[in-house]
Amino acid sequence: MKILYVTSEANPYAASGGLGDVLGALPITVAEDNPDAEVSVIMPLYDTMKEIYRKQLVKVKDISFKYSWRDSGASIFKIQNGKVTYYFVENHRYFERGKLYGEFDDAERFAFFSLAVVEYMIQTGNVPDILHANDWQTALTVVYLKTRFASMKELSGIRTVYTIHNIEYQGKFDSRILGDIFALDGYAGVLEYNGCINLMKGAITVSDFITTVSPNYAFELHHDFFAFGLADVIHNSAAKLKGVINGIDYNYFSPEKGGDIEYPYSKENVSEGKRKNKLAFQKEVGLPENADIPLVVMITRLATQKGIDLVAAIIEELLREDIQFVILGTGETEYENMFKALEASHPNLKALIKFDRVISKKMYASADIFVMPSKSEPCGLAQMIACSYGTVPVVRAVGGLFDSIKPYGSEGENGFTFDNYNAHELLFTVKRALDVYKDKDAWNSLVMKAKISDFSWGISAAKYMKIYNKLLEW
Ligand code: ADP
Repeated sequence: MKILYVTSEANPYAASGGLGDVLGALPITVAEDNPDAEVSVIMPLYDTMKEIYRKQLVKVKDISFKYSWRDSGASIFKIQNGKVTYYFVENHRYFERGKLYGEFDDAERFAFFSLAVVEYMIQTGNVPDILHANDWQTALTVVYLKTRFASMKELSGIRTVYTIHNIEYQGKFDSRILGDIFALDGYAGVLEYNGCINLMKGAITVSDFITTVSPNYAFELHHDFFAFGLADVIHNSAAKLKGVINGIDYNYFSPEKGGDIEYPYSKENVSEGKRKNKLAFQKEVGLPENADIPLVVMITRLATQKGIDLVAAIIEELLREDIQFVILGTGETEYENMFKALEASHPNLKALIKFDRVISKKMYASADIFVMPSKSEPCGLAQMIACSYGTVPVVRAVGGLFDSIKPYGSEGENGFTFDNYNAHELLFTVKRALDVYKDKDAWNSLVMKAKISDFSWGISAAKYMKIYNKLLEW
């Protein structure tokens, strides 16, 4: 089976978030677990790619094609990463911007990329059995295959899978773009929605199968609160929708290997390892060194989606407890300023306003409680990473948080959960965790259960394989 993943980002070549993590890990696991599968990934070649990877690029082919009324072209490169071939589409004009997204012509840039993927298949004859596209940036690949190129014999055997990583970002653009940029004037019905072009809506509609990144999020997407206007579209496609939860990279986030943390530890010495890391971390950030005091942390984008307003509402009350609280995050200025101000008036709070992977690992290793009160959460990786370090998550039971964290006292317990988007439910749930923390036996047992929760990619990769196999039976 030939599988081609189409994406705008993949670790370690270019990543801005969860999408990059998934496309850096899922294809590798699929290839390793299925020796008969020929797995490749295709993505843009950004100027932000690190030199060590740039040096590995091997030229495959130059292609030229008509992009709407424009004469255009791209160079295709590749890097062999274990069993997976990563292909890169180079175009100086579109992908040398010093960043991945947020440009005035993003629609044109990613439509170009999507078309280049189709042209690459046609011009090289390297045609997959499964084409798996992701998020709005690559939605047009599926749309092109099912519309303009639908009658092309050499492409007609391709089955398409489209994954929604976050429905909040749909790729909405002015309708005039349809002909001038996409050359899809005849297909307005596929892409138009609520008076504009909606790329995600197009891919959901025409793709052979759609997935999203957790079973519970797949269920939630039927409701407008979560679907950002696409609930009806999801509803109409329900028969071909499945939620498959993401995994985490246990090589990268590994208390056993250490690397970025001072005292590596395993499940055999988790409490001792965490105590030592806690003391080192307290010293590093200027908190009183005390291994017994519960260390409560958050590592998050400071965005409304992450439930920061709930934290804001109860933080003063929470800080009256005998705890230390550290937040690592960047995002909305209002929240950054709020935590900075709190730090100035509360000696038991530290606000680390930056994006820093090394510090994040030190925090996962030294914290006792990890707070994640999201308003919505397609999958969420941070709660799984916390578990792998034996840090007990307190989460709102929403999206993938519901699927991955089971409440204390229930079967499969590995954390604490609350249901309603209510600040005091959050506060009382953290307080409940603090109560259990005082009972050392109960706490250590819960820490162990969190630590051994299995969030590896193998199970999810097998689920995707099952979907691919089913599609090929048609
Ligand atoms: P999202 O993709 O919505 O931001 P996830 O929980 O899926 O949320 O993934 C967040 C990832 O980003 C986790 O690996 C988390 O550790 C990391 N992260 C978030 N904020 C920071 C930060 N300020 N510094 C370092 N890592 C961060």
